[in-house]
Amino acid sequence: MESKNKRMRVGEGKISGTVSIFLGVLSLAGILCFKFPEQLTTPEFREVYTPELVENLMLGAIIATFLFALVSMLLAKNKKLAVYGVALGTMAVVLGGLTVEGRAVEKLNWSLGLDWLILDLLVMVLIFVPIELAFPKNKLQTKFHEEWRTDLIYFGISHLAIQLFGVLTKKPAVAFFGWMNLEGVHTWVNDLPFVVELLLALVVTDLFQYWAHRIFHSHYFLWRFHSIHHSTENMDWLAGSRTHFIDIFFTRSMSYIPLYVLGFSTLTFNVYIVFIAIHAVLIHANTNINFGFLKYIITTPQYHHWHHCKEPEHYGNNFAVVFPFIDMIFGTYYLPGKEWPEGTGLVDASFPKGFLKQFAFPFVKNPFKNDLLPEEKSER
Ligand SMILES: [Zn+2]
Ligand SMILES: [Zn+2]
Repeated sequence: MESKNKRMRVGEGKISGTVSIFLGVLSLAGILCFKFPEQLTTPEFREVYTPELVENLMLGAIIATFLFALVSMLLAKNKKLAVYGVALGTMAVVLGGLTVEGRAVEKLNWSLGLDWLILDLLVMVLIFVPIELAFPKNKLQTKFHEEWRTDLIYFGISHLAIQLFGVLTKKPAVAFFGWMNLEGVHTWVNDLPFVVELLLALVVTDLFQYWAHRIFHSHYFLWRFHSIHHSTENMDWLAGSRTHFIDIFFTRSMSYIPLYVLGFSTLTFNVYIVFIAIHAVLIHANTNINFGFLKYIITTPQYHHWHHCKEPEHYGNNFAVVFPFIDMIFGTYYLPGKEWPEGTGLVDASFPKGFLKQFAFPFVKNPFKNDLLPEEKSER
């Protein structure tokens, strides 16, 4: 979709100015993590950090904030972005960003994942922004389309609430399967070669997610919640974050059940999480990068964009998150050669804009002009 905002071009000083502001904001958030590590960092991650690593990261981010501001200052006619970058960098220095030191941290009962938010945002931007710039699917679409702030808020909140989601989504699995003595199964799974164990984790969670996803499409009340995810017209690396809390809770709980029941090793679990985090961003990204024959083995942006398509005649396909063969088995596979959908989004629904309104809306109202009749269920 064309937006009021135009896509940035190399050489205008806007990209460097934006990068400078982005890094400046991350630096300030990083300083908050150093000042309030008990409340703002993830206990599991703290075990991995070394003081040198986080201190150098901080130093690097602040220096880069100034360097990108300088580039923008030299290139841009309008110096506004560069000035903001310098202001943010200066604030980070004044607040002690260059002299921060990691320290021992007490464990509280709760904490927000601000460190996870900063690191994941940084990594995703480093991976996907260059990909979307170099191989864009929709060449006119800018990163700063009408609803980018909303999508960023979704991204932010789901990362800050990592602990809450972790605890909540484990609960159903533990409640339903905790009484079983599963040690034999766990030993068998842990004795598998790592690659086999990882593949098994991916296949079984994808099977569970497939059905959770399909139920969200076919049940009219659940569809109200999942349709938020489908409301985006600007598919890009941030778009996949637009997912309602109820949707995240059920879908993740479902994928946690096999992980819990089969007792995968910590290594497998961690690699699985990293893979899914990157892959979920990839399939929503605004890129037509060519995956060759791999597109028949693993889901790609083209595959998942078809799931988000605007054309009603192609609704109800491509529910699998990772493996297209699961859609093939259940008769919901659709990948027509090199073709892409005309557009993405919902033609028959109207959603309010903004995170809070979208959060409350599906509980009380139906966004669709016509509620789906039971016989139309599978069409979504
Ligand atoms: Zn869906
Ligand atoms: Zn999606």
